[in-house]
Amino acid sequence: MCGTTLGKLAMVTCPICKSEAEEIEPGTFDGMWFRCLKHREFGVSDRALKTRKNAEPEQSERALKKAIERAGPEERPKILDLDF
Ligand SMILES: [Zn+2]
Repeated sequence: MCGTTLGKLAMVTCPICKSEAEEIEPGTFDGMWFRCLKHREFGVSDRALKTRKNAEPEQSERALKKAIERAGPEERPKILDLDF
């Protein structure tokens, strides 16, 4: 972890649509939280990031949908490896 990026939002790529996104609240779970214009806010577990980075966009969309259903309206969806 690099100390100079502390307090700044890291620019990352949305794992679903590959467009520019933000990483939010880094280090709050075993994965990454993303904020994407198209997909809003969601998390992806480390394991899913690692094993599914070459997933088709449709696969990722489907995984996000499952995560949204599981999370319900109150919680931010979290995509896990098993959602793929
Ligand atoms: Zn996206």
